Amino acid sequence: MLTDDIVVTRNEAVSADTFNVDRCDYQSLWCKRYCYGRKLTGRAYVARQWRSDFVDGKIVQHCGPSPRLRPFTVIGDVPKRRGDRQRFERFVRKLFPRYEKVWLPTRSWSDDGGLEYLADIMDEHENVAVTLSFDGSMSVKTLMTATDRFRTRYGDRTSLATVTEAPYTDAERENVDALLALGYTHCPKTHGAGSCHTCGRLCWAEHRATRLSAIGLPIIGFKYHR
Ligand code: SF4
Repeated sequence: MLTDDIVVTRNEAVSADTFNVDRCDYQSLWCKRYCYGRKLTGRAYVARQWRSDFVDGKIVQHCGPSPRLRPFTVIGDVPKRRGDRQRFERFVRKLFPRYEKVWLPTRSWSDDGGLEYLADIMDEHENVAVTLSFDGSMSVKTLMTATDRFRTRYGDRTSLATVTEAPYTDAERENVDALLALGYTHCPKTHGAGSCHTCGRLCWAEHRATRLSAIGLPIIGFKYHR
C-alpha cells in the first residue's frame, strides 16, 4: 500500500536507501505465488517530514532530528549472497547511524545463519528494530525457535508479523491461525483506520507495552493488499 510516508527514491544518491529492492533471498512458497511488492520498487519509507529532502535526492545527514528509515518496503530483504552482503554491511555502517530509528522487516530468520547476521546488525546499531516476517507456508516451529533466541536479547526491539486475510491454502491458514492465536494487533494503517503515527509506531518498537502477545512480543497482523 502506498502511503504519504513512502517516497520515491529513484535518484542515484538515494537509491541505496532501498537497498536490494530487486530481490528477496528468503522467499517462501507463498511469496513466490503472491508477492505484491514489485509495485513498490524504488520507494522507501521515511518519516513524513523528510519527504521533500529525499525526493530532491539529498542525503539524510542534511535533515533535522528524528528521521526514520525502512530500508526495504515490501520487496527486498537483508541480502544473503557474499558480495551483496558486504555491500550491505558497508551501507548499514554508513547510513543507519544517521537515523533515530531503523525498521528491518525480514525473513532472514528462516535461513541458516540469518539470526546471527541480524544480531550483528542489532548489536552494532541500537536504533534498529526487527520484525520477523511470517506467512502460512513457513514453519511456525522455526519461527518460535528464532523468537526464543531473540526475545531475551532484543525483546524490546523485536516483533513478529504476518498478513491475515490472504489467499492461503488450508494448511497455510492453519499455520497463520496458530500464530495469531497467541494474540495479535491489527496494523491500523493497512487495515485502513490509521497511520504509523496514530498507531504509535509499534513496528518501530516505540509504543508497545499494552500490545504484547502471549509470547511477550508484539505480533502484528497486516492486511493483505494486492
Ligand atoms: S503496525 Fe503501526 S507502525 Fe506498524 S506499519 Fe502498521 S501502523 Fe505502522
